[in-house]
Amino acid sequence: MSIRGNHRRMRRQQTWFFWLIITVLAGFTIGHELGTQRVTAAPHQWQIVTCDVGQGSASLIHIDHDSAVLVDAGDEPDKLLGCLNWAGISKLEGIFLTHEHEDHVKALESVEKFRGTPVYVSTVFEQKQLPSGYTNLQRQLQGQSLGFTGDQCSVEAKTLSPDGLTAHLEASYNNDSLTELLNISCIEDRNLTYLATGDLEKPGVQKLLSQNPDVHADVLAVPHHGSKGAGTALLEATHPQLALISAGKNNEYGHPHQEITQYLAQHHVPTASTIESGHIATYVEQGRLMMVSSHARGRS
Ligand SMILES: [Zn+2]
Repeated sequence: MSIRGNHRRMRRQQTWFFWLIITVLAGFTIGHELGTQRVTAAPHQWQIVTCDVGQGSASLIHIDHDSAVLVDAGDEPDKLLGCLNWAGISKLEGIFLTHEHEDHVKALESVEKFRGTPVYVSTVFEQKQLPSGYTNLQRQLQGQSLGFTGDQCSVEAKTLSPDGLTAHLEASYNNDSLTELLNISCIEDRNLTYLATGDLEKPGVQKLLSQNPDVHADVLAVPHHGSKGAGTALLEATHPQLALISAGKNNEYGHPHQEITQYLAQHHVPTASTIESGHIATYVEQGRLMMVSSHARGRS
């Protein structure tokens, strides 16, 4: 290995050591303010990657060495593919699309290689809004579970909402977001639950909680990019150990809203956002929740 390679490896080791120490000192705390160096690729044991797709949403759940389940895709193909590359993923076992809005689905239109992949949507998802070429549509009923198994992780995805009894609650796609509770069990007994919430707002959250009063998740995708309209009831109910926010820098909607970030800070919920951290990899290591990201805080 060249001197440069050695130097790079040392830097990497220092980064890992830094994160490990911080995690030990802080118990379970892993705030994004702790990151001072970028990680150029997700660590091999990652379980969830929250993709930086700008103002949109996309996340990956690890299945095999090179394969994952995708939850939403963002609207920019280059950003989606950049995230897959960062996570070392070339195959998808399944694609969940939470709802029809472009910032969650549009990127797939220009990505042909995943067109045969099963696409899981709610019972009220409008078929005409599917990205063109994606025809393997499977509708998820409330309470239904799906399993994915690979050599890294086994994942059970359970649909918590919508119930599909009413078409488009409050005439909005947002409140009928497919809400999936993902139970991610990886080698070495590394278990993690992740709640993917799409763009739920208060009416959708209320309905979700009335139908699933005991919902809990280790890691929560904060609904609707941290919009004020989503409220804090889901944050309160799920008691997450880590809250992840997908949003774009200087976005026109003001996501995430101060009311949401203040609530998380006041309740000491470690929080990271793609605005500051870029792609975010989350995993359990020796019983502790860990997080690394592609950018240090204060990215330009
Ligand atoms: Zn959205």
